[in-house]
Amino acid sequence: MRILVSNDDGVEAPGLRALAEALVPLGEVVVCAPDREQSATSRSISLHRPLRIVKREPWGPVERWAVDGTPTDAVYVGIHHVLKKRPPDLVASGINHGPNLANDIHYSGTVAAAMEGCVGGFPSFAISLIGSSDYRHAARFAHKLAGQFGVHGLAPGTLLNVNVPKGEPLGVRVTKTGKRTYAAQVIEKLDPRGRAYYWIGGDEQAHEHVPDSDCDAVFDEKLISITPLHLDLTRHELLTELSKWELT
Ligand code: MN
Repeated sequence: MRILVSNDDGVEAPGLRALAEALVPLGEVVVCAPDREQSATSRSISLHRPLRIVKREPWGPVERWAVDGTPTDAVYVGIHHVLKKRPPDLVASGINHGPNLANDIHYSGTVAAAMEGCVGGFPSFAISLIGSSDYRHAARFAHKLAGQFGVHGLAPGTLLNVNVPKGEPLGVRVTKTGKRTYAAQVIEKLDPRGRAYYWIGGDEQAHEHVPDSDCDAVFDEKLISITPLHLDLTRHELLTELSKWELT
């Protein structure tokens, strides 16, 4: 099994190393990741500037490439350049430092990297750790999950989003995306030249209780959450409804 590993915390992130090293027993592991932190860059892709790719010191058997772009760029380069002649069997992203739950998945660079693997036609997953820098449990689960990809495969256009709670997980639950609520805020300050600047985004305040959701699993029950996602954003139930609108 050949596995392409990426992330959004950067090519030197401890979570990336934990993931790559956990997957080594399954086969050949190649890292292709952003050269610096690219969290919350979502599906951004660099189509209007050149990219530089630099080989970094390997982590034991793990070949390692740094791309000066986004997570999507890194996986794109990984699939279509670095591994062009030896395509991966699996694309893994993480282990992110912090959760990617509920609506986070739309902003997440970690999930975006797995989405790019999915776009490339490869089975893919993203894995994130909540409130801790001890990646051992998450790494162990990543190894177990990657092995299951070999057994079951995954439907095209689908990826898995995994979130691991702080501390020792009490089990694993297959979940749907839940609802997190943030204290949305815009803080206004003045720069040294007297011009206003703005800092957006607030801390999470709570999550709504949604049975079988990712948030409930990790926060309320200390379970590893695993959510199947797909790239098709079409709301199929509304196709008929919308065709009734008078649009011509
Ligand atoms: Mn991150």
